[in-house]
Amino acid sequence: MNNLKLEDIFGALRNPPTDARRKVITEAYNLAMEAHKGQKRRSGEDYVQHPIAVAKILAEIGMGGKTIAAGLLHDVPEDTATTLADVEKKFGSEIAALVDGVTKLGKIKLRGSHEEYFLENLRKMLLAMASDIRVIIIKLADRLHNMQTLQYNPPEKQLRIAHETMEVFAPIANRLGMGEIKTQLQDLAFMYLDPENFKLVKEMEEKDQAERDKYVQRAIKELEEELKKEGIQVVRTDGRAKSIYSLYLKLLKHDMDINRIYDLSAVRIILPEVADCYEALGIVHKKYRPMIGRIKDYISLPKPNGYQSIHTTVFGPDGKILEIQIRTVKMDNEAEFGIAAHWIYSESKKKKNWRDLLFKKKRPEPEKELGWVKQLREWQNEIGRDDEEFIQGLKIDFFKNHIFAFTPRGDIIDLPEDSTPIDFAYAIHSEIGSHATGAKADGKMIPLDSPIKNGQVLEILTSKDRKSPNTDWLKFVKTSAAKSHIRRELRKE
Ligand code: MN
Repeated sequence: MNNLKLEDIFGALRNPPTDARRKVITEAYNLAMEAHKGQKRRSGEDYVQHPIAVAKILAEIGMGGKTIAAGLLHDVPEDTATTLADVEKKFGSEIAALVDGVTKLGKIKLRGSHEEYFLENLRKMLLAMASDIRVIIIKLADRLHNMQTLQYNPPEKQLRIAHETMEVFAPIANRLGMGEIKTQLQDLAFMYLDPENFKLVKEMEEKDQAERDKYVQRAIKELEEELKKEGIQVVRTDGRAKSIYSLYLKLLKHDMDINRIYDLSAVRIILPEVADCYEALGIVHKKYRPMIGRIKDYISLPKPNGYQSIHTTVFGPDGKILEIQIRTVKMDNEAEFGIAAHWIYSESKKKKNWRDLLFKKKRPEPEKELGWVKQLREWQNEIGRDDEEFIQGLKIDFFKNHIFAFTPRGDIIDLPEDSTPIDFAYAIHSEIGSHATGAKADGKMIPLDSPIKNGQVLEILTSKDRKSPNTDWLKFVKTSAAKSHIRRELRKE
């Protein structure tokens, strides 16, 4: 196995490291090496290889020094003798908070239920619990590396982790627009969840792959020549292979007949500006006849997760069907890295190199990496859209006023802000509500009128001796369900 080192993280950075960044990453690396010393993974390699791999993924997607440092330290408080307080003392509260957030998210596990509402709540809760979006991004990188090394785990655990990845983490990556991470998570999970179909689809895709590649290269050459002739500056073109899982989903819709899949191979054309994209579309259609009804303009009408591009299906060289995607450099980065692209932009404004293309537009200096809601809004503004659909897609409004708490069995109870243990008790069952005598949050007794905090595990103590609810409860309960139950019980008396 290839042993990763500090230089591999630096090598993966999308922006050249400043001295401050080098310093914080190096110090985190040294602490991780020290803290995990002697620990091994199931694969037999040193445990520290895992946090280093996570840090490398974070560097690859363009995250900053603090996030990368937190990635290096993400398993330190939970699995080593070094505490969160130690991390805070050495690295400050911001990095410590990121590490703490990842540790907390690690405790949430997908238990039993595969009901859609349950999964949706779990996704929302993960997002809501991370007060900083960088926590989710670190968690996604952590999950990606765990999936890449899943073969060393017992079969039962493989299945549980793969399920959780497919149903919770891949959708979150998708919602954050992180297409590259989503694709990798889905393909890896699919391989464990449905090995037979994975193999089938993979073989289908690989058959004729060489021929398809040659065809795509020919189309690229023809198109580049044509665009050049018309004075369009092409930043980059590439031929894109479809991910195994997304191909599988398409095949399901088309009777598993691969000949009916039009975007099996696609050409991607990356251009400097939005105006170039529309001009290029015209040139492409002049060269190759477009298929009617297959032009999708996600530039003027982006997908809810922010994805922007123009897609068109044409009759390419030899009249064969070919999908062509046209987008700007910035859109391409965002399609791949989603919300993470925000950091790439905010950190290299002043660089004078090929990246200048990316930063033509002047952006106000981001004050700081603040709350993640603000970042989302900033990011949304940066890409020049102001649509409610985007916000709606991320359900910010939803979890702004909601909290999530667990029963001791791990069920999630979704409550309005400032709800109390009595609300929680009634949300489980009216019998539990009416007989409640006390409550424990994370194992400690708390008053029945104290507000529940996001992510707490709540245990309601009940007694048969309590015959009816307390009138005073009406003064502090927040949910209408609790109120009406209490009133009804009191009337009965
Ligand atoms: Mn980890």
